[in-house]
Amino acid sequence: MHYTSNDIVCITGGTLSSKADSLPLHAVSFDSRKIHWPHETLFAALPGEQRNGYHYIPEAYEKGVRHFLIQEAADAIEHTFPEGIFIRVPDVLKALQQLAAHHRKNMKMPVIAITGSNGKTVIKEWLHQLMSETNRVARSPKSYNSQIGVPVSLLQVDAASDYAIIEAGISKPGEMNRLATMISPDIGILSFMGEAHAEHFLCPEEKIREKLILFHDVKKLIYCSDSDWVRNAISAFATSHTSTSLFDWGTHPNAILQVVEETKQHHGLQLTCRYQSRLFRFYIPFNDAASRFNALSCVATLLALGFDIDAYLKGLAALVPVEMRLQQKQGIHDCILINDSYSADFDALKIALDFLEQQSGSYNRTLILSDLPETGVNESASYERLARLLNNCSLHRLIGIGPALHTHKNLFAPIPLTHFYETTEAFIKTIDLSGFQREAILLKGARRFQFERISSLLEEQLHETVLEISMNALRNNVKAYRRLLQPGVRCMAMVKAFSYGSGSHEVAGLLQDEGVEYLAVAYTDEGIALRKSGIQLPIMVMNPSSTEFESLVRYKLEPELFSFRILQDFTDYLHRRGILQYPVHVKLDTGMHRLGFLESECKQLCDTLTENKSVRVVTVFTHLAASEDPLQDAYTEKQANVFKSICTSLQHSLGYSFLRHVCNSAGIVRHPQLHFDMVRLGIGLYGADNSLPLDFVASLKSSITQIKHLRAGETVGYGRRGKLERDSAIATVRVGYADGYPRALSNGIGHMLVNGQQAPVIGNICMDMTMLDVTGLDVQEGDPVIVFGESPTVSEIAQLAGTIPYEILTGISQRVKRVYYQE
Ligand SMILES: *Cc1c(COP(=O)(O)O)cnc(C)c1O
Repeated sequence: MHYTSNDIVCITGGTLSSKADSLPLHAVSFDSRKIHWPHETLFAALPGEQRNGYHYIPEAYEKGVRHFLIQEAADAIEHTFPEGIFIRVPDVLKALQQLAAHHRKNMKMPVIAITGSNGKTVIKEWLHQLMSETNRVARSPKSYNSQIGVPVSLLQVDAASDYAIIEAGISKPGEMNRLATMISPDIGILSFMGEAHAEHFLCPEEKIREKLILFHDVKKLIYCSDSDWVRNAISAFATSHTSTSLFDWGTHPNAILQVVEETKQHHGLQLTCRYQSRLFRFYIPFNDAASRFNALSCVATLLALGFDIDAYLKGLAALVPVEMRLQQKQGIHDCILINDSYSADFDALKIALDFLEQQSGSYNRTLILSDLPETGVNESASYERLARLLNNCSLHRLIGIGPALHTHKNLFAPIPLTHFYETTEAFIKTIDLSGFQREAILLKGARRFQFERISSLLEEQLHETVLEISMNALRNNVKAYRRLLQPGVRCMAMVKAFSYGSGSHEVAGLLQDEGVEYLAVAYTDEGIALRKSGIQLPIMVMNPSSTEFESLVRYKLEPELFSFRILQDFTDYLHRRGILQYPVHVKLDTGMHRLGFLESECKQLCDTLTENKSVRVVTVFTHLAASEDPLQDAYTEKQANVFKSICTSLQHSLGYSFLRHVCNSAGIVRHPQLHFDMVRLGIGLYGADNSLPLDFVASLKSSITQIKHLRAGETVGYGRRGKLERDSAIATVRVGYADGYPRALSNGIGHMLVNGQQAPVIGNICMDMTMLDVTGLDVQEGDPVIVFGESPTVSEIAQLAGTIPYEILTGISQRVKRVYYQE
């Protein structure tokens, strides 16, 4: 975008606080943590329930932002920021949408819009991947498809693009109109439509009608006609939209793009399609139904746009799973390695830099970057813009690879260390690996620079069993729970026991970024580790020991006080150090009978705390013994009543207020009346709470070391427990009980997923290995194996092993490397 404050006033009908300036603004941000070009950014202070943008104006100003879009009714703030230029509008979101609609009107390139229940982001990213080979393609970042995401996406579209691809998502009837007005697409793609009942919609027909509003004025509409109800809905749409030409794909002979044959292969799918009576074949490196749908939607779109499909067949075979693009791995010498070798355009770079910032904590930041693939008309201007971006994000070192970066190297002088190389080869020749120590390294290169050669040097070699953590799933799960909370109710995330096995600062960094208010760990050490990695959120330590008070205080950790003994010890310590009003958390035992003050101790507790000036009670809480169990609801209610009554007494004696919290994950879902001021979210974050549809976060993956073919009557493993009743194929997998795979799953109780097929465990599970019966399955040595993840889920594994998912997750051994993925 390219608007001055005056332009924005004209477009939105706002009023200006001071004299306008003539500086063109190129970017809009509503998140003060994600500002890349502060001087040319318009900060939209969106009022929100969880986060009110108005409160983040000081932070944005501090970062150098001078232009603000704020609510007409918000309190006067202008005088505090003498250099600020404030545009006041009746409704910031509406104003942003007006600006986006205006911007859209001046866009000359075709706009492609995608909506549907599933797969929008994947189709968008894949189309981008395919079309970028030959065109300049702008697209919505990440899954920006909401009332806020769409205007931000549109405003980012570069005028020089050949195409723009925009995602639109709705959750309630009535929302699509505003999105449609803004996007006003030329071409529409309907992604997969699920029939599942959606909240806020009466029936699937209502849902699809609402989605189709987006396509009112499109010239072409691309959709899959294999399901009857979608086809019927589109027919109804077509009768009133005669100027829209329909482009359907499917398996039936009347489809414009007909899928005539498909064969599942080892890791992919071979498809034969017919278009305009011509047959063509292609391969995609996936064989699940969702990927098939999304890839075919892309093929149909390419054809509908009139592209020569033969030029894209190679690209289809090289599609990359969207969630795998940003990978975080353990690097050599204690480095964090973030690898994003998928593309190096501005949008992808901004996302990766945000991720670097979020994950690097107190580590120095190094960026290894290749030339930008497409700089458009003006190379110098692009590199100047790049320099403004990079000089602003506290990089410690920049390693630039490629002739263009080399030419423009003087632009990056503000970064403390810079090195430039003409080629990847030249860098690798001179690389000194000992120069990489305890730092966060972001690798970001256009494909032709082959940065995978660099990453294999910087990556720590892994034991081949890894626990993959999906950062997107974690984010979605936090959001799913937060949606259940009334405005103002805070969220404490439980990151004890290495975040239920998922990692410590990696998860905590994400939670901090997601706006969680509090963290809790079990022991002081865990809190110290988080602080050392740069986590700044308040941290509650549930089981502090008196010998560690010194470090507890040094690292600003807040103890849980659960007995008179620890209260006394801590007060004595604070007194000796002359510390007053140290924040503490009081734990009440209302029925769990583990830690905490009992109801009978209430009077004494009130008296002790009232006189005590050393501590300040910031929260009071209790833990439910059976929040998940409907049969125990009466007990839960009793616990809550005891809690309320002690809180009232405490409040009365202390004379100041504190936050109250009771619910764990299951409690959040099952007992909305007990949310009080805060909730403590644990297992649900990691996707293993059955009371809510959640995304699975952790997948334990391994691989097959050997396959052997044995005769009926032979036996497998220790104790000869695996008796073969038929001639069998037996695969040995690199995972055993020392990795945390429970031995209770031996002898056919457990199974793993091999190339989408279930293979039962045969014989006893060993320390480092497990044998699977793969007779008749399509498997080869070296193939990946899913121990748990999407299927079997960690909950299924736990049930089979006679335990709970908590124990499985926290039992995954530290020798299993954690790998983090983000879209
Ligand atoms: C672990 C823990 C939680 C979180 O419980 P989940 O069932 O994992 O949500 C909440 N509160 C306390 C005191 C805990 O120890």
